[in-house]
Amino acid sequence: MSEVQTALTAAERERFGEDPAATFAANLAEVRHRIEAACARAGRPASEVRLLPISKTVPAHVLRHAVPAGMTEFGENKIQEAMGKAEEMADLPLRWSIVGHLQSNKAKFLARFATEFHALDSLKLAAELNRRMEAEGRDLDVFVQANTSGEESKFGLEPAAVADFVARLPEFPRLRPRGLMTLAIFSPDMERVRACFRILRRLRDETGLEHLSMGMSGDYEAAIEEGATIVRVGQSIFGARPAGSGPYWPGFLPDNA
Ligand SMILES: *Cc1c(COP(=O)(O)O)cnc(C)c1O
Repeated sequence: MSEVQTALTAAERERFGEDPAATFAANLAEVRHRIEAACARAGRPASEVRLLPISKTVPAHVLRHAVPAGMTEFGENKIQEAMGKAEEMADLPLRWSIVGHLQSNKAKFLARFATEFHALDSLKLAAELNRRMEAEGRDLDVFVQANTSGEESKFGLEPAAVADFVARLPEFPRLRPRGLMTLAIFSPDMERVRACFRILRRLRDETGLEHLSMGMSGDYEAAIEEGATIVRVGQSIFGARPAGSGPYWPGFLPDNA
């Protein structure tokens, strides 16, 4: 890249290494390798699984190094943070996904720059996104979030409400329903984690939608074995988020915490 890069701070060197481009490329290769292995175990072609890198907490000047490593799309869960990065990196041909809960009054921000939204869970939000996308003259790929863990603290529709919700989406012509999304329970018990993925897969089959957005750094291989077509992986590519960055969604802490 010809641009002069902003120097890394000590904390950034600690997290991302002296050469973030090399760190990200190596991590990405490892994740892709694991995706291929999980696909092989499940008897699925690796081309069926899309890796969506989740770049929350990675500052734009560091995230730039992910582009030569081969990443051209990023997922973020906070709209302000995402918008700032999209602006700072506007010189690059990137696609932005919002994967976290969004309040209806923030839909206008999303409509300005995002191509995809993974956390649709209310008709009010659908109506507002539709209106804002109409104003921008664009369509938005959407994924309906289901709460498959039964945890109060998690966003998303009750599984029993998903089919009726999906049936209403044609009322919003600027939204293109692409699939379902979930966050599995945060638990070391992989059977409980897989049970969440299986619920989403059953809902996908019921609704006839195409994609299953499920699986993160701790559970994406299991998610692929259970049918994921999009995995949202952050820390395995960009390194562990600093402890002080806080829970990035309610219900993040282990259920016994
Ligand atoms: C942060 C986040 C991820 C990725 O989690 P990692 O542990 O960094 O892989 C996936 N999905 C959502 C909705 C997130 O907020």
